[in-house]
Amino acid sequence: MNKDVNQSYWSASVELPKFHELKENTDSNVLVAGGGISGLMNAYQFAVKGYDVTLIEGNELVSGTTKNTTARITAQQGLLYSQLKSQKGADTAQLYYESQMSAIEEIERIVTKYNIDCDFKRTDSVIYAEHEKSVKDLEKEEKVYKELSIDGYLSKDQNNLPFETAGRLVMKNQAEFHPLKFLKGIIEVLQGLNVTIYEHTRAKSADGNTLSTVDNYKITFDYLIIATHFPFLDLENFYFNSFKISYGYGLVAETSTPIPENISLSGYDGAGLSIRNIVDKNNALPLLLFGGLSHGSYEQKDMAKQLDELEHYAGQKTVNEKTLYAYRAQDLMTADSLPFIGYFNKKNENYFVASGFNKYGMANGVLSSMIISDLAEGKNNMYKEMLDPGRKKGTLQQLKQHLTNPVHVAESEIKNLAESHPDFDTLELDQGEGTVAKDGPAKKGVYRDGDIYYVVSNRCTHMGCSLNWNNDDKTWDCPCHGSRFNYTGKVIEGPATDNLDTDIRPYK
Ligand SMILES: Cc1cc2nc3c(=O)[nH]c(=O)nc-3n(C[C@H](O)[C@H](O)[C@H](O)COP(=O)(O)OP(=O)(O)OC[C@H]3O[C@@H](n4cnc5c(N)ncnc54)[C@H](O)[C@@H]3O)c2cc1C
Repeated sequence: MNKDVNQSYWSASVELPKFHELKENTDSNVLVAGGGISGLMNAYQFAVKGYDVTLIEGNELVSGTTKNTTARITAQQGLLYSQLKSQKGADTAQLYYESQMSAIEEIERIVTKYNIDCDFKRTDSVIYAEHEKSVKDLEKEEKVYKELSIDGYLSKDQNNLPFETAGRLVMKNQAEFHPLKFLKGIIEVLQGLNVTIYEHTRAKSADGNTLSTVDNYKITFDYLIIATHFPFLDLENFYFNSFKISYGYGLVAETSTPIPENISLSGYDGAGLSIRNIVDKNNALPLLLFGGLSHGSYEQKDMAKQLDELEHYAGQKTVNEKTLYAYRAQDLMTADSLPFIGYFNKKNENYFVASGFNKYGMANGVLSSMIISDLAEGKNNMYKEMLDPGRKKGTLQQLKQHLTNPVHVAESEIKNLAESHPDFDTLELDQGEGTVAKDGPAKKGVYRDGDIYYVVSNRCTHMGCSLNWNNDDKTWDCPCHGSRFNYTGKVIEGPATDNLDTDIRPYK
């Protein structure tokens, strides 16, 4: 695969406005940290209610997971409803479905109200099984759909899909959009509502009603919304043990297979690819977005190989002429498969969090804004208890699985210690290459940029895990909690807030 394609279709097709960084102390009624779908939608929801809102973003707006999403807006989130029914009861399963449907309606309402041109369309969402033996699982889920009055059905007809399946579980009346066109529209609405936005302004800590940025500016607030994907205020609240980081891959290809206008698929078995249309009138051939090959952040996999594999599986589904865009992204998975939306902790009634979306952050990012703005106003919200971050997190078995995080940390450290690394003194890297190297007793990350080496500390500034080199994105990635740093050592993805110690040395 051509390496130049390393970005998403969404970010390549939309230019967002730029904002200055914060360079003085300030105050705001509502302070939102994070400018992905959750942060922007929370800013929106408070601003339309008349609050004075400031949003700070550590990089640029929508530069996190939201720019690499598949953007299917759906309540069909795997075979979730049979799982929820057996673990939490039918009432919770029903309530969760309704919460997602209400978020989809909210997106549609906002798109209509502000006339946002974002290719929003209602479409049925489908989970397909490739193997006959998987169909019984779809049947079990369909039974729960019927019990809960979820509008959907199981079909074994091929219908108009471009490849063969053994069965398809359909959920009616879901949606899709171009997430960046939608959020560009939201940013314009925020500007109209006088929301203050700062980019390149990273939140570092908060105490009482004051947030400090990495550059040590203070922002005082009445309400703080933590929408930084992985909460930047982590350690004291044990969020680091609440999530598993899951990587996923995506690519957009031109296809010569005749395809229907509405494809919104998620694979249950086999390679398990998600597939959806991309609306692009300028492209002669139809475009399809393929997503999949998820794995945990502890499993070190070569990104280029994963993308090649995704391209291979995509080629089994449709005849694809050319891959135009490809990328990797990460999302946070919770033990009970429900997001964490609501009060951040018991100590601070004015701190809120939106996180742990289990790869379904489009509806949940919007839902978070509906719930949190209600809670801040002291209103009851029917989804509050179900999604409360302080809830009992899942079954014992799920919890055990999640509590393996420290074990994975230890395993990854042992592996790192056992690995042999070249000595920095004898190192010969090609231009654009990076590696871990021994530098005296310490291990360092080294990257060659022309005539210089960027030599960075190989320990994540969040909790000290060893970092892995990602040659495709040219980043240092933390397997423990998903923090990422560029080759100069700058944080590009949290929960870390501090950059790596960096030393610039000449290439000899
Ligand atoms: C491969 C893949 C496919 C997916 N497909 C779908 C799908 O089809 N449908 C769906 O509903 N969901 C999908 N998801 C999930 C969805 O994309 C995410 O849940 C959602 O985008 C998360 O949004 P967010 O706003 O919480 O986080 P982000 O988009 O990551 O935004 C967080 C922002 O906070 C900023 N930030 C971080 N730390 C700080 C700090 N300390 N100070 C200030 N700013 C900070 C970041 O720079 C970033 O811009 C998918 C996820 C993946 C990985």
